[in-house]
Amino acid sequence: MTTRPTTAQPAKTPGTAKARAVPGRSRKPDVQRHLIEAGALLEGHFLLSSGLHSDKYLQCALLLADPKLASDMGKSLAALQEEIPDAVVSPAVGGIVIGQEVARALKARKAFFAERVEGALTLRRGFRLLPGEKVVVVEDVITTGRSVKELVTLAKSWGAKPLAVLSVAVRSVEDPDFGVPLKTLLRLPLVVHKPEDCPLCRKGLPLVKPGSREFRKMADTAKKGKA
Ligand SMILES: [Zn+2]
Repeated sequence: MTTRPTTAQPAKTPGTAKARAVPGRSRKPDVQRHLIEAGALLEGHFLLSSGLHSDKYLQCALLLADPKLASDMGKSLAALQEEIPDAVVSPAVGGIVIGQEVARALKARKAFFAERVEGALTLRRGFRLLPGEKVVVVEDVITTGRSVKELVTLAKSWGAKPLAVLSVAVRSVEDPDFGVPLKTLLRLPLVVHKPEDCPLCRKGLPLVKPGSREFRKMADTAKKGKA
C-alpha cells in the first residue's frame, strides 16, 4: 500500500507532525445516510432543550448504538488523523463510545473520558495524562464546542500536548477555535429559530419535543422508512 491520500484533511496540520499512515479506509463514509437509517437524524419541527425550534434533530448516540457503525465511524475518524496520539480524551457521555473506537483504530494506548464535577470537566477514576503525552480530543457532535475547548485546556493543564479534535459531526455554523485542527465526517450546521419568529410555527407544523411519544413515533417511522 502506498501513501494514503490526505485530501479529506483541513489545511491546518501541526507543524511538528510526522506523518504515520493509519491502516484502514481513507474515504469518508456517508454519515448522513447512516444517521437517517439509524433514526438518529430526524426532520420536522423540534423543540430543543434551549427552548429554540429547529427543523432537524440529531441524536448521534443512536448511530453509535450499532457497534458495527460505531467501529466504522471510529476507523473513518482515525483515518483523518496522521500523528498517532498516546491518549484519546472525550467528554462524557456523548464522546465515550466514539472515543474508545477512535483510540482502538489509532492504536492509542489510552481512551479516557472526562466527567463534570461541580460544573468542570475532570479526569476521574484514576485517569491521568503524563507531561508531554500527545492527546486527541474526540467528541460525537460539536455544537458550541464548549466541552471540547474545556478538554483541550484540561489536557494542557496535565502537561499533555493536544494534536487535534475529531468529531463525528459538527453542527456549528463556523468552526470553533480549539487552537488545534478540527476534523469531522459531517458538517450539519444547526439552524434554530426563536419561537416568536419560527417559520415552522407559522406553517402550522406540530412542534415535537424530543423524548415525547410523538417523537418516538417519528423515530420509528424514520427507521421503518429505510427498510
Ligand atoms: Zn417553531
